[in-house]
Parts: sequence; structure tokens; C-alpha cells
Amino acid sequence: MDFFNKLGDAISGIGKDVSQNVADLTGIARLNMDIRKREDFVKKQYTEIGRQYYDLHKGEEEPFFEEINLITEALQEIEQLKVQIADLKGKKKCPVCGAVNEGEAMYCIKCGARCESVFEDEDVQETEKTQEEIILDEVKEETE
Ligand SMILES: [Zn+2]
Repeated sequence: MDFFNKLGDAISGIGKDVSQNVADLTGIARLNMDIRKREDFVKKQYTEIGRQYYDLHKGEEEPFFEEINLITEALQEIEQLKVQIADLKGKKKCPVCGAVNEGEAMYCIKCGARCESVFEDEDVQETEKTQEEIILDEVKEETE
């Protein structure tokens, strides 16, 4: 499985880090930082295993973990929210009462105030790094 190959690579990468850290050990703060990095790494592996478990068992009528259904519900909610965003695009928001008006509307259908501003796409999502990129960054940090 591809995931386990990647995991193996990542772990051997960490092994190299450990021997290097022993050489340029600078104190407890440094060691605590290394512990935190590995704790983050383990957390990400837990998440990855959970994602794979979910993919394998999401179709089951009575899954072993109740969380499977909760994840499915949350994913469906995300889809509905995305539909809501798509619906808002190109429409105008009333600056006075906040009502949603058609894009061509000059005045609010609810309160009659003048509408000019169109809903903006405020995407604040950050791109997530892959596991390899994170490991590479860490190795780079420590060799610099
Ligand atoms: Zn209004």
C-alpha cells in the first residue's frame, strides 16, 4: 500500500533527524521541540488512518464507529454550504438590512435601500502541505 511506503520513508527520515539532534543538542527546549514535531507527525498518521478507515467503511449500514455517520453528516453539510455559497455568488447584499437581492437589483426588495455591493468570494482556505513537504521542511530547518 502506497500509504505504508510513505510512512516508512517518513519514519526513516525521522531516524536520521534523531542522530543529528544528538550531535548538535542545545538543551531541553530543543528536545521538547523535537517531541512536539513527532507528536504532530503521529497525529497526522492517526488522521490518515482514520480517513482510510472511513473510506473503507462509509458504506456500511451499521458501522462499528458511530463517528462514521457523524463524518458523513458533516460532509453532507459541507456540500450544502457549498451550494449556499454558489447561490450567493453574483447576488447583492443589502447594506442596510442584509437581505439577499438579485444581481441586477438596484434597490433592496425588503427595505428599499440602494444596493451596490455584490457578495464577494472570501476564500480564506489555506493550502495544506503534504506529509513529504512537511518532513522536507523539518529536515531543511534542522540542517540550516
Ligand atoms: Zn434592505
